[in-house]
Parts: sequence; structure tokens; C-alpha cells
Amino acid sequence: MVLPTHPRYESLMLRAKMVEAYKNGILSDSGLIAHGRGEAFDYLIGEKTTLNAHKAIQAAAAALILAVYPVISVNGNTAALASHEVVILTQSLDAKLEINLFYRTSERIKNIRKILEDAGAFEVLGVEEESVTIEGLKGPRSKSSKIGVNQSDVVLVPLEDGDRTEALISNGKFVITIDLNPLSRTSQKASITIVDNLIRAIPHLVREVDKLKNTSKSELRNIVNNFDNQLNLQDSLDLIAQNITTKKEKKIDKTD
Ligand code: ATP
Ligand code: MG
Repeated sequence: MVLPTHPRYESLMLRAKMVEAYKNGILSDSGLIAHGRGEAFDYLIGEKTTLNAHKAIQAAAAALILAVYPVISVNGNTAALASHEVVILTQSLDAKLEINLFYRTSERIKNIRKILEDAGAFEVLGVEEESVTIEGLKGPRSKSSKIGVNQSDVVLVPLEDGDRTEALISNGKFVITIDLNPLSRTSQKASITIVDNLIRAIPHLVREVDKLKNTSKSELRNIVNNFDNQLNLQDSLDLIAQNITTKKEKKIDKTD
């Protein structure tokens, strides 16, 4: 048993949660590996929501409030880590909630739907209703609900795959992602990238939406327009570089 005093306690608890989600047929085996990649980047950003992640969260909240047809896309990792918060966000934005799996099986769709419904979702798309193919993609991963992502103007896709992000952008969607790796294709291609762990970012996003809900449209547009995704990603990379350098210097200090 891991004690709460263990320095890696929270990270190890999260890992145990993901293993459980894998055993319960919510997460794919690749989802577990993706989590591992995320852990490494979380370590490097300091396992907290950084100032530039806050800026991206504010811009994301503004874009989602301005959206005419916002859709929140959920995969196994998101369902395992933040189902309650995702449902709260959906309801607060009056958005659609859609399950979109890279490794799509009817079993996982069923399990994730149950998690979302248990968390309070009234309507879960990406399940049985009519689907369409996202232009530019092939195979089961190209499926999207006809009344979900397909119809959206703004879509929140935490932990999306690079190919799908590119396809969504080419189809004219405003894509918001949450991805701990500032270098991934998804991070680089998205309209707004929140470089943060989704377990922290989604509750922050819920609070930011509440805060900005009564802000004027022109002010919200200003927030979105003043956000520069490439600059924000560069700030995250600079922070990672700084964290690595600082640790190295500390080590040198110790041996001196
Ligand atoms: P891309 O396809 O966009 O180039 P990739 O192939 O490098 O990305 P994937 O396996 O497709 O990566 O997606 C996993 C991504 O999700 C990784 O970039 C990882 O850092 C990130 N990630 C994993 N867990 C979390 C989490 N809890 N919160 C935010 N991001 C996460
Ligand atoms: Mg990928």
C-alpha cells in the first residue's frame, strides 16, 4: 500500500485509477501508455496548473461560451479521470457530450456511456445515433455523431490524436485541446491548447466558465483574439527547459 506521505502519492494513486479503468474496460491498453507519456510531461511542468495554462483555460472558456454549437468529446482517459467535471462543464455550457474513441469497440462505448450517465449526463452522443465520417479520416476512428462534433463550431477534445485534430481543423472547427505535451501534433495544430493535466484543467475550466458567463460578447471575443497559441506553447516549453536547468544546477550545487 502506498502511504499518503509518499512523495509520488498523488501520481501513483492516479496510476492505480487508470489501471482500474483499464481492467473495467473503459481505457484501452494504448490509453494506459498515453497516460504514461502524460505523466512524464506533468513531471516536467511541475505537476501544477501553470500561469500560461491559466491563460489558455481563460481563452478556452471564452471560446466555449461564445460557441453556437459547443461539443465536448470524451475518450477513455477523460472518462476515467474527470467524468463528473466533464458532465458539469457540459451542463453549464449547454453543450453536447460525445464519446469519441480512437480504438472504438462497442464494449468500451457501453462502459463509458454508463460512467457518464452515472455522473449525471442526460444525453450521451457517439453511441447509437446516426454517425457520419469526419472528412480526411478512415476507419472506425473517423466516426462522429451526426448531431455532435460534426455539427459543432467549437469542440473540446482533451487528449486528441494528431490526425483527428488536423482533420477537425481542416473541417473548419475551432479546436480546444488539453494536452500535457506542448510538442504533440495535437498541441501544435489546435486553436487553443491547454498544457495541463486534464484532471486539474477541467475543474479550472468549469470555474472559469462560471466566472465569464455574464461577460459581454465583445469582451469574450477580445480574450479569444488576444490569445496566441504558438506563443503560449513556447512559454510551456521555456518553463520545461527552465525546470530541467534548475534541477541540473541544484545537483551541481550539491556536489560542489
Ligand atoms: P499526437 O497524435 O497529437 O502527435 P501523440 O501521438 O504524441 O500525440 P497520443 O498517444 O496520441 O500522443 O496522445 C496522448 C497525449 O495525451 C500525449 O501527448 C500525452 O502527453 C497527453 N496526456 C496523457 N494523459 C494526459 C492527461 N491526464 N492530461 C493531459 N494530457 C495527457
Ligand atoms: Mg497520436
